[in-house]
Amino acid sequence: MTTEKILHPDTASLKRAAAVIRSGGLVAFPTETVYGLGGNALDAEAAVKIYRAKGRPSDNPLIIHLADARDAEKYCVTNEMFYRLADAFCPGPLTVILPKKDCIPYTVTGGLDTVAVRIPSHPIANALIRLAGVPIAAPSANLSGKPSPTRFSHIEHDLDGRVDVLIDGGECDFGVESTIVKPTDDGKGLHLLRPGGITIEMLLTVTDTVIPDKCLTEKLPEGTRPLAPGMMYRHYAPDAPLVLLEGSDEAFLSFVSEKLKAGEDCGVLCYDEDLAVLGEHRTISLGPKDERNTQAHRLFECLRAFPKVERIYSRMPSREGIGLAVFNRLIKAAGYCVIKL
Ligand code: AMP
Ligand code: MG
Repeated sequence: MTTEKILHPDTASLKRAAAVIRSGGLVAFPTETVYGLGGNALDAEAAVKIYRAKGRPSDNPLIIHLADARDAEKYCVTNEMFYRLADAFCPGPLTVILPKKDCIPYTVTGGLDTVAVRIPSHPIANALIRLAGVPIAAPSANLSGKPSPTRFSHIEHDLDGRVDVLIDGGECDFGVESTIVKPTDDGKGLHLLRPGGITIEMLLTVTDTVIPDKCLTEKLPEGTRPLAPGMMYRHYAPDAPLVLLEGSDEAFLSFVSEKLKAGEDCGVLCYDEDLAVLGEHRTISLGPKDERNTQAHRLFECLRAFPKVERIYSRMPSREGIGLAVFNRLIKAAGYCVIKL
């Protein structure tokens, strides 16, 4: 298939992309979290095309993207908690799980009776949804299993020739996918299904109860399912096995220095401060040790940048604030492989 690339989106080209969505085609577009691969959320066939283009298992449901929180009641059963969250954080990097209405096909929800809803703040995403006049179902625009795309070159690499349109919107601000929450049965609290740019601390400003799903930080026992089906899959993987190193700065530096000196075919994912000791050869930095937003912003770009090596050793990130999202993506990319130093 030939893929149209919109390098300088303006109203005319976004109208063309919106028409592609309305007629059942696929458009990869920028959001403030990562790039999404969008199709008409009311079209059962469009969802099937998304799964096919990504190579994604069809039991891993898609998020529907709306231009305005007030549209949500057309597609799902809203509640007080949803509007509290929407007032505080939407538009923005938050996805809420709600009971679906009949107009949302089961191909979008992976057979579930609930649907994931998000209102992105990125102006191109917002314009595309408005112009399409339908909600846009969109997972991250990477090939399944690969790190999520945060730059145009990433979607070009993964999806050129597989979808109708690619829209260039520069680098994504947050760099990690949206926070996913599901209201508890009593409607008063939240389950945290995936950490992201809306942190636990921020969620605690609208509710007293935030219950992180166990799978965010530890491997679930065989046969147990996470609340978000997608969290079950090994994700975000770079081209080499990743190992997280847990221990002090000194222990990390001496462990990887030795590996590098011994000529092991490895790469190192580290912080700016480590480069003074380790040098620039075989090392990629996530950013300064205390700048968690920068680390989130750069995470997937770093994971994609490693050449084929036998192993990548990584710093164990802080779990504070958005750090929990970085930790969660890294530990999944590593298949939960941690060495305690
Ligand atoms: P992605 O679009 O790649 O960010 O993936 C979407 C994430 O949302 C996946 O982890 C899905 O499992 C999760 N998700 C989507 N819909 C639902 C739902 N109805 N219930 C729980 N998780 C969902
Ligand atoms: Mg994804």
